Amino acid sequence: MSNNTNIVPESYPMNGGDGSNSYTKNSYFQRAGTNAMKAIIDDVIAEKLYVEKQISSSKSTFRIADLGCSVGPNTFIAMQNIIDAVQQKYQSQGFASHMPEFQVFFNDHTSNDFNTLFASLPPERPYLATGVPGSFHGQLFPDFSLDFVHSSYALQWLSKVPEELLNKNSAAWNKGRVHYESAPDEVAQAYTDQFAKDITIFLDGRAKELVVGGLMVLIMPGITNGIPHSCSATGLMFDFLGHCLMDMAKEGLISEVQVDSFNLPVYVASPKEMTQLVERNGCFSIERMEITQPWTRVDDLSGQTCTMHLRAGMEGIISKHFGTEIIDELFDRYYKKHGEFIGLLESKRNEGNQLFIILKRI
Ligand code: SAH
Repeated sequence: MSNNTNIVPESYPMNGGDGSNSYTKNSYFQRAGTNAMKAIIDDVIAEKLYVEKQISSSKSTFRIADLGCSVGPNTFIAMQNIIDAVQQKYQSQGFASHMPEFQVFFNDHTSNDFNTLFASLPPERPYLATGVPGSFHGQLFPDFSLDFVHSSYALQWLSKVPEELLNKNSAAWNKGRVHYESAPDEVAQAYTDQFAKDITIFLDGRAKELVVGGLMVLIMPGITNGIPHSCSATGLMFDFLGHCLMDMAKEGLISEVQVDSFNLPVYVASPKEMTQLVERNGCFSIERMEITQPWTRVDDLSGQTCTMHLRAGMEGIISKHFGTEIIDELFDRYYKKHGEFIGLLESKRNEGNQLFIILKRI
């Protein structure tokens, strides 16, 4: 257990392996997000990808990076979808005989369970697989070496918790909460500022790595322009988590000081914010930018599903701070609260909560 207030996400990966609490078994929401976007990605590849360029040499390689891939299987589905669409594009242009070889770079933090990822690579995959450890907040690949970048449900992770949240003398001190939904504006602003810094670095890195004409698909939790933070479905989940932790603190199972010093380094962005950041970078055109709702496709929004989803992603970071012994109790409480929670979540089923972006390197 640690009271360490320096919560740095690279130390807390998604739950690895393929057991019942694993990310592999509990990432339906992210998968629904990937599946819901397939048709649009197909269209944009068909319309916007400049394949003539790829056939200039006899044996070209089409390089795709999945940034924040985790342990699968979602990354495999996403990579297969992209390659299918690129192959289709080559065929429709009459270039089938010039089909490139495909190379996929699976990137995540070094603490990611790459063993599980590599062990479960689809045997019949149409690509050569490479693992790339390290943070995407910085350059990961040589200049102009990637043709396509994909990142799904990873960019919401901040590189760190904004420092002001832990400073008792700051208006952004986040006492009694673990996120910013029901917090003072200063708390939300500290998150907004950190997100802007992180995305700026992310875009600078990708601008170097992508070839001109290369496409980048970004999928992440999102919020409609102008909607208060307190209304996002993701925020709602975190708010409930905060309530459960505070209940446990009131019962003496953990200390309030521990809750005060714990904040989730996750941000839910709006299209307006992302548009500003992309325009400020200046190296990409925005081909698509929309708020979508993939959860309409998730049949099972039960308390069990939602609890396991949250646990698979957050167990590492929570247990590092509070100790592993509180985890079962915490998620049991979360599950028991689900009646209240699911009602609210269901009411948001048709509201957009996913930000979907396609950029082109210009
Ligand atoms: N793309 C997968 C996994 C999403 S989970 C899917 O859609 O299902 C988010 C992943 O992003 C985690 O594995 C986390 O470790 C990774 N991640 C978060 N911040 C990162 C960073 N700065 N660099 C690389 N990976 C990061």
